Amino acid sequence: MTLVDRWQRSMMDNYGTPPLALVRGSGAVLTDEAGKSYVDMLGGIAVNALGHAHPAVVEAVSRQIGTLGHVSNLYVAEPPVALAELLLALAGRPGRVFFSNSGAEANEAVFKLSRLTGRDHVVATVGGFHGRTMGALALTGQPAKVDPFRPLPGEVTHVPFGDAAALADAVTDATAMVILEPIQGENGVVVPPPGYLAAAREITTRHGALLVLDEVQTGIGRTGHWFAHQADGVEPDAITLAKGLGGGLPIGACVAFGAAGDLLAPGLHGTTFGGNPVSCAAALAVIGTIANEGLLDSVKRVGERLRRGIEALDHPLVGEVRGAGLLLGIVLTSPASKDLADGLRDAGFLVNPVQPNVIRLAPPLILTADQADAFVAALAKVLA
Ligand code: PMP
Repeated sequence: MTLVDRWQRSMMDNYGTPPLALVRGSGAVLTDEAGKSYVDMLGGIAVNALGHAHPAVVEAVSRQIGTLGHVSNLYVAEPPVALAELLLALAGRPGRVFFSNSGAEANEAVFKLSRLTGRDHVVATVGGFHGRTMGALALTGQPAKVDPFRPLPGEVTHVPFGDAAALADAVTDATAMVILEPIQGENGVVVPPPGYLAAAREITTRHGALLVLDEVQTGIGRTGHWFAHQADGVEPDAITLAKGLGGGLPIGACVAFGAAGDLLAPGLHGTTFGGNPVSCAAALAVIGTIANEGLLDSVKRVGERLRRGIEALDHPLVGEVRGAGLLLGIVLTSPASKDLADGLRDAGFLVNPVQPNVIRLAPPLILTADQADAFVAALAKVLA
C-alpha cells in the first residue's frame, strides 16, 4: 500500500487527495515516495522560511529538546523570553507577546484581546483569511469556508479589501478592532492600493479602535521586510504571526504594542504549548539566520527576478504577477491554475493553485537566483 492509500483510510480529507507523498526535504528541494525531486516553490505555504532541514534549525531544535523541552507556562524559560524580546526589537516598538501554536490561535488571542477594550464590534475584510477555528472563521471573509459553520461568535462587518472609504464607513466609536492582512494571501495574493494601511491607521485612531495586522503569511521576511507593514511605515496596535516564524515547527504569536500589550489580565487567556522552548528555539534560529545571511535583501532580489522573469514570458495566459518579495501570485487570464500547477509538478516544481485563476508562489526565503530562473524556464515550457 502506498502512503496515499494509507492516508485515504486513516485521515480526514480536509483539502482533497494529496497529489504526492513526500518523504524528505533539503534546502528548497523535496523528494517524493517514488524518489522524484521537486523545487518547493510553496514552502509549506510560507512556512519553511529556511527551506527543509536547515542546519541552524536542526541544531537549535536538537539542542533545546535535549536541554529543556517543555515547561508549564506557570514557569518561565529563556527561549520564549528571548523570542518575545527579539520580535519587539524587530518591530522597533515596546509591547508584549502572547505565544500560541498556530496562526488561527494567534488571531483568537487578538480577538479576545479586542473584547477587553470594552467594545465588541469588529471590522474585517471580504476575502480575508484568518484561520479555521470558530473565532478566526468569524473574522474570515470567504463564504465557502465560513457559511457551513454559522452561527459564529462576534459582531463582524466585512468590508471590501483595499477600499479606504468603505473602511471609514464601517468603523465607528463602537469598533473594538479592525483586522486585515497587508496582502491577502489565501484570497490569491491580493495587494491593496498604496496608502491603504496608512488610511486604516488613521481611521482606527480617529475612532479609538485597535488596528490589527494579520502577518501570519506576510511576516518574518516573506516580503523582504521583517513584517510587511514596515514597508508602509504604519504602526499597528498588534500583529499576528505564525507559519514562517517556526521554520517548520508549530508556533504562533500575537504581538501587541504599547497599551494593547497591557489589556490581558492574568487568568484571561492561555494555552499549554504556547511559547514552548523547542518551537521558540526554532524561531530564534530562523530569525538569526535571516539576519546573518542577509536574506531580507535576497528575498527582494530573487523575488523581483522571479516576477520579471515571469512577466518577460509575455504569455497570453499570464495576466499579471502581483505580490511582494517571495509572496507572488501569477494571475491567469482563464481559470487554469489547477492544470498549470499539475504541469509544473510534473516538471519538478511545486506551486499552489490558490484560486482558480491564481498560482501562489511562497518558496523558502533561501531560494537562489538559479532556482528562480529554473522555475521560469519550466513555466515557459509548461505554458507552451
Ligand atoms: N492568517 C493568515 C493570513 C493565513 O494565511 C493563515 C493560514 N493560511 C492563518 C491565519 C491561519 O494559520 P494556521 O493555519 O496556522 O492556523
